[in-house]
Amino acid sequence: MGRITQYYHATSLEDAFAKAKQLGPVAAYVGGGVELVLRRNPEITTLIDLSHCGLDYIAASREGIEIGSQTTLTTISRSADIRQYAGGSLAWWAGHIAHNNLRDMITVGGVIGRNQPWNDVVPHLVALGAQVRLFDGTERITPLSDYIEAKQPGAIIKGVLLSAGNAGSRGFLWRFTRTQQDISTLHFSALVNCDGKVMTAANLVFAGRPGHAALYPRLSEELVGKSLSHETFARLAEMAPDLVEVGTDLRATGEFRRELVRAAIVNLDEHMTGVAQ
Ligand SMILES: Cc1cc2nc3c(=O)[nH]c(=O)nc-3n(C[C@H](O)[C@H](O)[C@H](O)COP(=O)(O)OP(=O)(O)OC[C@H]3O[C@@H](n4cnc5c(N)ncnc54)[C@H](O)[C@@H]3O)c2cc1C
Repeated sequence: MGRITQYYHATSLEDAFAKAKQLGPVAAYVGGGVELVLRRNPEITTLIDLSHCGLDYIAASREGIEIGSQTTLTTISRSADIRQYAGGSLAWWAGHIAHNNLRDMITVGGVIGRNQPWNDVVPHLVALGAQVRLFDGTERITPLSDYIEAKQPGAIIKGVLLSAGNAGSRGFLWRFTRTQQDISTLHFSALVNCDGKVMTAANLVFAGRPGHAALYPRLSEELVGKSLSHETFARLAEMAPDLVEVGTDLRATGEFRRELVRAAIVNLDEHMTGVAQ
């Protein structure tokens, strides 16, 4: 790993972006620093600290909730607004993954900035339909699912937006692991909205396949407009293993992952149809 020769305390977003633009690929923004301390691109020599740029906030409005990129997992887990959003799934997971000391440091900006394929938070944010507010001289908003497909080098993640339109839906995340502390062999996350007994919207996301988080609109189509019944989910569980691209790595074979895909849909079935308490 390369030596850090400068730790730059940016005083504003404009200041941070100007410094990053001036230095190019040898500079990196610091969230909680958890990833950057352990593993970083060897060419990085300057770290740009964002802690004085006003990015540590959770703001609720009529449009939804915006989480500033310097907000830690611990703060997210304790937010009353996020605890009420989509059944509280994001708050619950933000308070249970990793270790409590790490949750005090890991920021939502750092999680998205790194986005390991096995990351727990990103697939759930994608399922929740999150958008990111980026700053690269001007501000713009883009769906998180698009951002992770084509990151914008140099752009600062300013915040994550959760739309009020999804607040009443139900959010889920399952991480299949060999032990509680292990990196998962598969993630499945879902957001489902219902009108009575009919599903009106659904986002289904798989990650750690071992590829990174991806939405599966073809599977969502199978739920939208259908009744909340075991038969609906049984059809989905039959289709999903053929549609979700899985592979083999050190953690699991593709065959095992295909079986987990089916099990993931069974979990969703049991939670949506009331079998699971
Ligand atoms: C021991 C250990 C256990 C872990 N356990 C888990 C776990 O259980 N579940 C899980 O999901 N993850 C886990 N992680 C991974 C952790 O979520 C990631 O390492 C995450 O990237 C750390 O966030 P950070 O804020 O410290 O990021 P940093 O280390 O500060 O940054 C990570 C990357 O994001 C970039 N970045 C940071 N902020 C911004 C911004 N605002 N705009 C643009 N780019 C930015 C940085 O330049 C860097 O490239 C674990 C990590 C460790 C070391």
